[in-house]
Amino acid sequence: MDLEEAREALFAQLVPHSASECIPLAQAQGRITAEVVRAQLPLPPFPASAMDGYALRHQDTANHETFRIVGQSLAGHPYTGSIKVGECARIFTGAVVPDGADLIVLQEQVAEVITDENGDKIVRFVPHEADEDYIRPVGNDVQMGHPMTQPGDRLSPLLLGALAAAGVCEIRVYRRPKVGVFSSGDELRDPGTPPDALTLGQIYDSNRFTLTSLLRHLPIELIALDRLPDDPDAVEEALTEASRRCDMLITSGGVSVGDADFIGATIARLGELSFWRLNLKPGKPLAFGNIGDCWIFGLPGNPVSTIVTCLLLVMPSLQVLCGTIPKPLLRIPATLSSPVSHRPGRAEYQRGIYSQNEPSSSALSVKHTGDQGSNRLSTFAGANCLIEIPKDSGDLAVGADVNILPLSDLLA
Ligand code: AMP
Ligand code: MG
Repeated sequence: MDLEEAREALFAQLVPHSASECIPLAQAQGRITAEVVRAQLPLPPFPASAMDGYALRHQDTANHETFRIVGQSLAGHPYTGSIKVGECARIFTGAVVPDGADLIVLQEQVAEVITDENGDKIVRFVPHEADEDYIRPVGNDVQMGHPMTQPGDRLSPLLLGALAAAGVCEIRVYRRPKVGVFSSGDELRDPGTPPDALTLGQIYDSNRFTLTSLLRHLPIELIALDRLPDDPDAVEEALTEASRRCDMLITSGGVSVGDADFIGATIARLGELSFWRLNLKPGKPLAFGNIGDCWIFGLPGNPVSTIVTCLLLVMPSLQVLCGTIPKPLLRIPATLSSPVSHRPGRAEYQRGIYSQNEPSSSALSVKHTGDQGSNRLSTFAGANCLIEIPKDSGDLAVGADVNILPLSDLLA
């Protein structure tokens, strides 16, 4: 399967979590809404001034040169009287427009403010034509009852702000699926072990660290799991046990065809293997299946392969499980500024750095980050995109057209 076929197969197979819970808005960032939430009031809830100035009757501007200031309306402190012929109220942005007034004359139009013989304040405006009324009518932003969310919407800071403004304080969201992350391999040691305590052949377990960091912002419950040793019985026992308490398991390593690779075979023995191996570089040995009700991704162990498959396949799959629909991959055309070598066969996702050709132009150029070995985590240093090399492509020269996948989109 190619990448897009695999994504389609995954999205078709995965079933979203249907259980939901009601939580305070303040705890809802990143969660997925399970209901239509409606505005509890119109916004603005009252006719509001859009500017600082004077509220008065439009029809009076034809035959009045001066206006008596009868009060003031500040945000949160309305003038409760009504505006009559020849009167005005001092008003500020966001304040209630008093009854009777239908025009805000901007304070920039004031010629003078004087106090008359009765001690009243009188304003005279520069002669001018009002270009607009500078009044925000009730519901001008949001109508009362407007559907603010649909089931499956992800609660971003911006959406949460809009809901708070619309009087919503609690929201029904899907429960967070439980996701367990394993790594596997006898060579792995915990990060934090002093380097001189590593024996010959040992390396740090970076994948579990990267995977949990990549997934942390998703609306899931991350379950810290152990490392799987290179022993088929121990792998079987650990996967069986974890599959009972998780909705999805993610392993890295041990999924290839080496003598110490047991993950694919164990999934097949304990449950079903939906697919194993993709037409993808890096990421070829990826396995996906289920053990009972628990989905399981066996990701390849090379750190770059782990990351690329997590970005392109695991994170979007988790979005489905969380109750939302993953966006199609964002592909943006760019021109290569470094040559790429590629053998036809598998689509390849190289780490790249894209930039605008000119500060004000939309044209992008992209270069790769050096030798693209799938063990080389350093190929991610400074990278801001993946460069997509189509499967049928051969070597590409400087100037060739490619698509890039911005990491900012993949990580969102
Ligand atoms: P494997 O598929 O288990 O043979 O792993 C492929 C390569 O990735 C080997 O060089 C492993 O040492 C390395 N590797 C596997 N798991 C991890 C991990 N959790 N952290 C860092 N490297 C790993
Ligand atoms: Mg291994």
